[in-house]
Amino acid sequence: MVIRSYETPLGSPRVHPPKAIRGTALTILGCGASSGVPLLACKCPVCTSKNKKNKRLRASVSIQAGKRTFLIDTSPDFRQQAHQNGLHWIDAVLFTHPHADHIHGLDDLRGFNFLMAKSIDCYGNSWTIGTLHSRFDYIFKKTQVGGGKPQLNLHIIDKPLKIQGVRVIPLELIHGRMPVLGYRINNVAYVTDLTYLPDSTFRQLRGLDVLVLDCLRPEPHPTHLHVDSALRLATRIGAKRTFFTHMGHELEYQKFSRSLPKNMFPAFDGLVIKA
Ligand SMILES: [Zn+2]
Ligand SMILES: [Zn+2]
Ligand SMILES: [Zn+2]
Repeated sequence: MVIRSYETPLGSPRVHPPKAIRGTALTILGCGASSGVPLLACKCPVCTSKNKKNKRLRASVSIQAGKRTFLIDTSPDFRQQAHQNGLHWIDAVLFTHPHADHIHGLDDLRGFNFLMAKSIDCYGNSWTIGTLHSRFDYIFKKTQVGGGKPQLNLHIIDKPLKIQGVRVIPLELIHGRMPVLGYRINNVAYVTDLTYLPDSTFRQLRGLDVLVLDCLRPEPHPTHLHVDSALRLATRIGAKRTFFTHMGHELEYQKFSRSLPKNMFPAFDGLVIKA
């Protein structure tokens, strides 16, 4: 089943797709917790740090595989993230789950519709697709002609799928009590907002070169991995390199970095990881 938005004319493309790359590259567009870092009005050492690696937009990544570019989630900072990272082409959007920090930049996809002169396929589990359809209902209704709305095709993904020639594996995760998705593309996986990883998903994560994993803060949390549980899970998955994301202001970049095993790193905004 596909839910399509009401079509409006898009004209002709103003950008070209990026050149194909060898292998797979993941860009950290944001590695912050739901409020971002710095927190509003917070005067703690991390929020007031001069180190750019302590400035974190809301969690999102892009993954380029060959000639295709996938965006994972549309954070509330999406427009800024696209500007900062020179992102001007998106072949498909893969959504992890419909929490505000992962979807509230959705409307800014319309800029890409106009640049590329095409609609964008969006994938998520049934909870996510249902929420996008109801929360952004104006996109899927006929309204008066105005400034334009995103042109999206919503698809439920519940098994590995070839999307524009690239195999995308949805990874079932448990976020507190909610079912959310991570994604694996080739030898790279993005796994955030979880407390529990089912065995069936564990088997889908064998042989990874790069894992990007949830790690909210040093203290345990009811819906996220914290430092100890994230380290345990990263060790068990055994990717060649693991990068931690969705980090709050309790984690200072340098200090956290020094405390980690040599194949594990805190992510930072703008980091490009090649695999
Ligand atoms: Zn989140
Ligand atoms: Zn702070
Ligand atoms: Zn969440």
